[in-house]
Amino acid sequence: MMRVSLLGSTGSIGTSTLDVLAGLPERFEVECLSAGSNIDLLCDQVKRFRPKRVCVGEEYAKEAGERNELKGLELLHGPDGLIALATDSRVDLVINGLVAGAGLRPTLAAVEAGRDVAIANKETLVVAGHLVTELAARNGVRLIPLDSELTPLWQNLQGVSPQQVTRIVLSASGGPFFDMSLDEMARATPEEALRHPTWRMGPKITIDSATLMNKGFEVIESRWFLGLDIEQIDVVIHRQSIVHCLVEFLDGSLTAHLSHPDMRLPIQQALTHPERLPTPVPSLDLVSTGSLSFHAPDLERFPCLALAYEVCREGGTAAAVLNAANEIGVYAFLAGRIGFLDVPDVVRRTLDAHVNASGANLDAVFEADRWGREKAREIVAGLNR
Ligand code: MG
Repeated sequence: MMRVSLLGSTGSIGTSTLDVLAGLPERFEVECLSAGSNIDLLCDQVKRFRPKRVCVGEEYAKEAGERNELKGLELLHGPDGLIALATDSRVDLVINGLVAGAGLRPTLAAVEAGRDVAIANKETLVVAGHLVTELAARNGVRLIPLDSELTPLWQNLQGVSPQQVTRIVLSASGGPFFDMSLDEMARATPEEALRHPTWRMGPKITIDSATLMNKGFEVIESRWFLGLDIEQIDVVIHRQSIVHCLVEFLDGSLTAHLSHPDMRLPIQQALTHPERLPTPVPSLDLVSTGSLSFHAPDLERFPCLALAYEVCREGGTAAAVLNAANEIGVYAFLAGRIGFLDVPDVVRRTLDAHVNASGANLDAVFEADRWGREKAREIVAGLNR
């Protein structure tokens, strides 16, 4: 029996993960759940999965404390509560489905405490990939990607000698603005940007998908999860979201991973690896799927992808600044304060103003994160409409 602590249980990754865990009751036991603000859903989950500890966002501690469904449980709150859930001594696996910047510290704490971590929170490895992977190696901890492209890549590369692999390819749906002109993109509203063609996800990652920053994050993550050189990682636009990733070998052949776009599949693959078990995801009928198309990403209309490659080549604290500025830019766009194309602009200008610190330790990373947010806020204020 594997005991899990699920951070971010009411988000899109969290709810899909619980669907998977519910289907494998003989293998998994839910020890801890954390939710930010959705206390109603957390209460439903508690009734269903009977965890021993739960954590809620700081501002929701009072509301949660008054709920009958949570009586008798250990109720924690805020960032310290998340750390407690990430380091719980009864837990074998921590699943990090937290949103954005909230994800790094709990991952670090879990790795330090010797817990394996399944990571859906992209920002963790984007901001501090070099530190997290080093710490994991030192503590003998497994880091498992939870993502529709990275999980199958990670699984397909287990046991494969790195010398045999020349390149990997991540596919991206291209988001809702794939064929829009720059003028149209400049006028795009948050509602339009939130209309993702194939995946249903939370607002932050959906905007990141529309700008292709999400794919840029996955490029950076691939480097750390898979130990690849940045020049070995390619991205292709694939509108149907059927081919999720490809591996190219030394002999020039490629293997592709195909499935219906359903997060329950990569989540289950990550959690039961190296075993493969049945899932509720239907088998893929290639004939009715029809034709599959592939396009090169347009880096002029989607500069976030190019910025991700740039910070990866640069190293140091550049990726932490990229992430910080992006988060400020995305939430400013969602709040209607800046335009869609201002998001990459805010990131670009913040990076231009940044003085990189090479050999970045954790303090330098947190300082770069703080500085990046402050600088990006200043740039957003200058753009305010
Ligand atoms: Mg993905």
